[in-house]
Amino acid sequence: MIKSMTLELRPRLQICNAFIHLNKKVNLTAVKVKLSKENIEITIENKTVIFLMKFIKLIPDSLSALDVTKNWICFRAQIMSDPLLGSFKTQIITNLTFNTNLLKDSIKNIELFNTGKCHIMCTFCKNILSRDIYIKRILPVPDINYDPSEWFCCKHNHSSTNMYNLIPLESDIFYGSFFFIIHASLFNHNLKVDENVVICSRCLHYLGKIHTDNSFKLWSCSVDYNSLSNSTIKNATDPFNDFLLAIKTSMTGIFGEEIILQYFEGKDSHSLTIKPMDWHLNLMIEPKDILCNNIVTLQRASVVKVLYKYETNKNTPDSVNKTYCEVSFLVIKAGLEHLLTSTKRFPQVYRTAIDYNVGYICLDNFINNT
Ligand SMILES: [Zn+2]
Ligand SMILES: [Zn+2]
Repeated sequence: MIKSMTLELRPRLQICNAFIHLNKKVNLTAVKVKLSKENIEITIENKTVIFLMKFIKLIPDSLSALDVTKNWICFRAQIMSDPLLGSFKTQIITNLTFNTNLLKDSIKNIELFNTGKCHIMCTFCKNILSRDIYIKRILPVPDINYDPSEWFCCKHNHSSTNMYNLIPLESDIFYGSFFFIIHASLFNHNLKVDENVVICSRCLHYLGKIHTDNSFKLWSCSVDYNSLSNSTIKNATDPFNDFLLAIKTSMTGIFGEEIILQYFEGKDSHSLTIKPMDWHLNLMIEPKDILCNNIVTLQRASVVKVLYKYETNKNTPDSVNKTYCEVSFLVIKAGLEHLLTSTKRFPQVYRTAIDYNVGYICLDNFINNT
């Protein structure tokens, strides 16, 4: 009977907003909502579902703004202040940046790498794309907003003009949060270059792009590394994890910021613009495996509520609150799918704001890739 149940908790206002998606249309007269301290009871015709809540307590009979439209039930309820969700005072001091986690993730990303001999393979068809590579150095590249004067340099003679290009030697792998930069001469004919895009010649998946004249930037979610020294394979990363990393690396926490994930392919560009509205929103949602039972224990999920928009070939004027981040198309696709699924938690009228969609990003949803 229930497709999804979403409670948006607003502890500072001491209210929660409920959006219940049913699998059939109902009439207001057939619906009964009863609020108790620890559960919400929904009766439709003669069937009752009880939603149990562990982390919040409702004020009984505080129901307001009940709206039953088509297959949606929406309402508002008052909640008691709860130390677990933070009182008015602690709510404000929650950590706005995720840098410590981010660092751990980057380390996790790279620790499987060994210096030594390896092959690079297409993750989609396992085509071997490189000759035997002998890696001596594995170095992080600074993030997009780095100060060139604070960065180390490699062993080249740099003229002042290409000072800021990061050029790997044949024995180097440079890595960022979701890409690698590798010398172009290390690859064989299984890797094709078309305009500025790097493609697997067998399965035609896009793997990366030309970085400089003699280096490629490959997306971590597109290539596997096969270590020949100890015959282990480091698999390509999960595109959705890379989406979360892209958000975490780009976010500034500044009010009004926009994160723009971009992908370029020849003359075409794809962009996913994300405007965070609420960095720390707690939800209570249905568990993964429901919903035939009539007693459902709601799970807590910590999300970022965002406005988002997917566009192609759009040039947007630059501004101080915009952060651009170039990613693989797979990363944009994975992120967009996550967002579109989240948008389905709202009834139609709440799904858009001007020309943006409304959605959630579950930042904690980090899959361990190892
Ligand atoms: Zn250099
Ligand atoms: Zn392939």
